[in-house]
Amino acid sequence: MLNKKEISDRVLIQEHFANEHLPSQMSAEVIADYKARIKQLLKEKDACLVAHYYTDDVMQELADETGGCVSDSLEMARFGANHPASTLIVAGVRFMGETAKILSPEKRILMPTLEATCSLDIGCPVEEFSAFCDAHPDHEVVVYANTSAAVKARADWVVTSSIALKVAEHLADEGKKIIWAPDKHLGSYVQRESGVEMLMWDGMCIVHDEFRAKGVHDMRKVYPDAALLVHPESPASMVELADAVGSTSQLIKAAQELPNKQFIVATDRGIFYKMRQAAPGKEFIAAPTGGSGATCRSCAHCPWMAMNGLENLLHVLETGDQEVHVDAALIEDARKPLQRMLDFNAQQ
Ligand code: SF4
Repeated sequence: MLNKKEISDRVLIQEHFANEHLPSQMSAEVIADYKARIKQLLKEKDACLVAHYYTDDVMQELADETGGCVSDSLEMARFGANHPASTLIVAGVRFMGETAKILSPEKRILMPTLEATCSLDIGCPVEEFSAFCDAHPDHEVVVYANTSAAVKARADWVVTSSIALKVAEHLADEGKKIIWAPDKHLGSYVQRESGVEMLMWDGMCIVHDEFRAKGVHDMRKVYPDAALLVHPESPASMVELADAVGSTSQLIKAAQELPNKQFIVATDRGIFYKMRQAAPGKEFIAAPTGGSGATCRSCAHCPWMAMNGLENLLHVLETGDQEVHVDAALIEDARKPLQRMLDFNAQQ
């Protein structure tokens, strides 16, 4: 049974989908032509392409083939900040473009489309979140990277899924209580593992929220030797069954290191591109989702990540359209909790 907030988030998300523009299907010749033109323009415009693991294979190929990077959101921003290019093209979703701008304010940040957002970002509007924080001033505010620049600016810490647990353990050791936002599944996982006292925002990722333990039980009858890899944005019932739980980078490592030849993977299937590179010869199968009636129309693929295509990528390179702008004062405030995480990570 959905609560009121979940229903209103889902209405917002469905309205968004009604206006979405997905890339069109192309023949191999047309794809090759687009790729050649994009590669040429990346050079001419002194631009570097950074792509998230969840984008379509062709985006990841282009980033790999042009000296860019394919990674998680934090590494994308870090790579972009250290790259000499004056323009970064961020193939991912809006908060990733904003994070790149926060860490590289002097650079021009373009995205194939600024319409690509995230259900976690949509479900955590800054006014409501600030009021929630104001009502609990004795709590340290920890927000996930999947939030707007304005929500980051309200936080004490920004964390990614790869470092969330370590930060929570550190805060628990210091006797701190925390406000966690926005992903309730990742928050519950971090709370269970770290024991930190936590007040939780009620948000979710529409892709991971749809993975179902029951489906995994059925699937294991077909693939009895497969290991289950689970991103902690998935429900607790999935995490309980997992052979490995972790961030995107940690799951790729697990695919490489576990001896199994088959893997049922509970995260966006865009990650298969890098898993196949990291563990050639192994087989990756998308974990089962809730199916009909769900807002996730994507079967383990984020509909916003899927909006990054060759046509809109070429268009922004030609026109400079779809530039990410973040207010200078907001950059300053949002950078502090991000920098805190980077410094904490460097000490680990
Ligand atoms: S996969 Fe989920 S968390 Fe990632 S961008 Fe899509 S909706 Fe957001």
